[in-house]
Amino acid sequence: MKKLHPITEAIRIQTERTNEMEHSTPMFLTSSFCFDNAEEMRAAFADETNDNIYSRFSNPTVQEFIDKMVLLEGAEAGVATATGMSAVFATFMALLKHGDHILSCDAVFGSTHNILKKYLPNYGIEFSYVSADKPGEWEAAIRPNTKMIYLETPTNPGLEIIDLEFAGALAKKHNLILNVDNCFATPVNQRPIDFGANLVVHSATKWIDGQGRVLGGVIAGDKKLVSEIFSFCRNTGPSLSPFNAWVLSKSLETLDVRMERHANNALQIATKLENHPKISWLKYPYLASHPQHRIAIKQMKNGGGIICFELKGGIESGRQFLNSLEMLSLTANLGDSRSIASHPASTTHGKLTEEERLKVNITPGLIRISVGLEYVDDILNDILQALEKC
Ligand SMILES: *Cc1c(COP(=O)(O)O)cnc(C)c1O
Repeated sequence: MKKLHPITEAIRIQTERTNEMEHSTPMFLTSSFCFDNAEEMRAAFADETNDNIYSRFSNPTVQEFIDKMVLLEGAEAGVATATGMSAVFATFMALLKHGDHILSCDAVFGSTHNILKKYLPNYGIEFSYVSADKPGEWEAAIRPNTKMIYLETPTNPGLEIIDLEFAGALAKKHNLILNVDNCFATPVNQRPIDFGANLVVHSATKWIDGQGRVLGGVIAGDKKLVSEIFSFCRNTGPSLSPFNAWVLSKSLETLDVRMERHANNALQIATKLENHPKISWLKYPYLASHPQHRIAIKQMKNGGGIICFELKGGIESGRQFLNSLEMLSLTANLGDSRSIASHPASTTHGKLTEEERLKVNITPGLIRISVGLEYVDDILNDILQALEKC
C-alpha cells in the first residue's frame, strides 16, 4: 500500500486483530506475559526475540500508543510514561550526568522548574535560564559542559513562542541535545523534530487525552537517545498503565479534528476579546498582535487552544472573573473538550510574592483560557458576561 499520511496512520494503526475479530483496538490489561516453553522464555530474556515479558517495559497496548506518537512526531522511536513529568524527568536522568549543564528557557512548566532547581543540583547537574524573547542571549549562555537545550513553545501560561528553527540550528552547531516539551501544540500542530529537535516530550494528560480522563506522558525522538531513556524507564518503572494507553491511543484517532476545532474556537474568541475595555492585553499566537506572530505562523499549523489576557483590574478582578463564570470550569487542567479558566496569581502561583510572580511573568490579572469544543458563542458569551462583572 502507498505510504499513508501520519494523521491517517494515527487513526488506522492498531494492535493486530485477535481471533475475536474485534474492530476497536483490544486492551491488554496484564502485568506479565506467558511463554510456551523454557527455550522461548530464555530467548526473550536474552533479547533474542521481541516477545513481551512484563508490562513495566513492554505491553502491546502501550506500544500501540507509542507507535502512533512516533509517526505523528516524525520520530525514530519512543517511550511512554505514567505522566508528563515522568517523561521530562526521564530525559534528564537518562541522558545527563554529574557535571553536565542544561540550558533551559525560563518559562517552563512549574514542576519542570522544580526538578531543575531543587533536585538536579543534588546530582551535580546544573542549569541556567535564558528568556524566550531574547534568543540573542542564548549562544553566550552555552558553557563547555552544556549538554542539552530544553524548551517549551508555546510557553505556559505566557504563550511566548520560541523559534524552533533557530534552536535547532544552535543545538546542531554546538552538538547539544535539543529537547522540546510539545504539550501545548501537539504534533498535529507543530513538529519540533522537523526543525532539528532530538527529543520531544509530552504530557499526554492534556490535549492528547483531550477529555480530562487519564494521566500519561510520552517521549519521541532519535533512536539512540530513546534507547537510553527506555533503559532508564525499564529499570526505574515510571510506566504507562495499559488502561491509560488504551484511552490515549483511542484519543489520537480524533486529535487532528479536535485540535482544528479547538484552534478555530480560540481564534474567534481571541479576535472578539482583543479590544475589550476590561482587558489591557490579550495574547494568541495566530493574532497579528502577538509579539512572535511571524514565528508562530512559520512553525505552527494553527494558534492552538489556549488564550491568555490581562484584566485591567488586577488580582481582585481575576477572582471576580472566576466567580462570575457560569459555564467554564475552574480546574487545574487544560486541553479538555470543556473550556477551562484559570487565574494563576490567586491559585497555582498564589504562594509566591507579587515580585516572585512577576519574575515568571505571572501578572496580577492574568487569565488563561483553555478553549474547549463547546459551541463557540456559548464560550464567548460566558466570558463576556463574566467580564462585565469585574
Ligand atoms: C501539564 C504539563 C506537564 C506535566 O504533565 P503531567 O502529565 O501533569 O505530569 C508538563 N509540561 C507542560 C507544558 C504541561 O502543561
